[in-house]
Amino acid sequence: MTETRTLASYEEIAGKIAISQLEQLSKNLKGAKVVHVNSTREGGGVAEILNWMVPLMNELGLDTSWEVVEGNEGFFDVTKAFHNGMQGSPVKLTDEMIKCYEDTLKSNFIRLQKKLEKADFVFIHDPQPAAFLDMCPNRKGKWVWRCHIDSSNPSRDVWKYIKSKVENYDASIFSMPNFAQPLPHPQFVIAPSIDPLSEKNCDLSSGEISETLSKYNIPDKFPILTQVSRFDKFKDPLGVIDAFNELIKTIPAELVLAGGGATDDPEGKVVLEDVYKAAKDNEHIHVLMLPSDSHKTINALQRASTIVIQKSIQEGFGLTVTEALLKEKPVIGGNVGGIRLQLHNHYTGFLVETPEGAALRIRELLHDEEKLNRMGKIAKQFVIENFLLTRHLREYLTLLVGLKCELTNYVLTESSNC
Ligand code: UDP
Repeated sequence: MTETRTLASYEEIAGKIAISQLEQLSKNLKGAKVVHVNSTREGGGVAEILNWMVPLMNELGLDTSWEVVEGNEGFFDVTKAFHNGMQGSPVKLTDEMIKCYEDTLKSNFIRLQKKLEKADFVFIHDPQPAAFLDMCPNRKGKWVWRCHIDSSNPSRDVWKYIKSKVENYDASIFSMPNFAQPLPHPQFVIAPSIDPLSEKNCDLSSGEISETLSKYNIPDKFPILTQVSRFDKFKDPLGVIDAFNELIKTIPAELVLAGGGATDDPEGKVVLEDVYKAAKDNEHIHVLMLPSDSHKTINALQRASTIVIQKSIQEGFGLTVTEALLKEKPVIGGNVGGIRLQLHNHYTGFLVETPEGAALRIRELLHDEEKLNRMGKIAKQFVIENFLLTRHLREYLTLLVGLKCELTNYVLTESSNC
């Protein structure tokens, strides 16, 4: 369900200037038809972002909608293979896979054709809907491919295909400079962000936090360590269990592995089974399979934690890291992708390579409460300065203004209002 808040409500945390910048930028975009397309309304960071971004773009006067690609299991198996391949797994695409992908996308295109043709701006998120552009020769607007994943070292086969689908876009956006690939159009680096007022991140009372712990039978006698993630091999939940087993040789603690599935992620079940197997003999490991609307529960679990873990082995950005930092929790995270943008050793958390490394850093922080609290305070400020939705939206609007100017062959002059 989309939560709606007004732009003005962000003034307190983001500052007056941030809000007025958005108002200024959007003056040139009033009435523009913007369509975002991705492949799931729930589960995962992209859905999380679109949930706040679409209402705020509408409030700013852009006529913004969010469409989702629909498909069967076969289709999502193929798009998951794209996802894995883009993140560097060796994937071989077959003609049959490509036919399944393109046929499904064609039927989705028929449903969305009018809207996509008329749109002034289309944001296509990730590889799943990428082939829409080829199907839309009568497009009127500018199309942007927004790649959220770590595409720094993609499988050759997958990138060759995805590249053929995205090279004709007007621009692309990546979360980090090293994710960008050679493409014949302008590329932009825009980091993702979180909504500090959403159910996932808003303040909670201590009563709400302890209610959540009781509901899931998580004792709070020992430090609580939490990883929130889809059950995906790239999130390395088994590595987290290994780190925990190493840690509790010397320090008692509770581990919470909280996650759910995303409707576009068919591999989750297998990973979850492996996690249950690895956790079954340890009553201090709490594996929670949560429904997709468990935002408040996740908020409470992050707040109840002493330290948050995100031991990914590949990561586009890692909104779960940002969410934890905002809640003053140092994070122990995998030394990959966008986690590197967020964790600075000894300041906001620690980057680690192995379960042993994770255990070592957790132990270090648990032995030094003063440092843990200090890092938590720095972490919150770091997110406020860098990873709030207002900065993200400002960068998107700036890009749209730039694309619009190009669209109308606008010449930038001092008198231009562009
Ligand atoms: N999330 C959630 N429920 C879950 C697992 C994750 O709501 O069971 C949320 C999580 O809080 C975060 C987003 O989904 O906001 C995951 O984004 P991230 O960038 O960490 O990873 P992604 O899933 O996009 O790879």
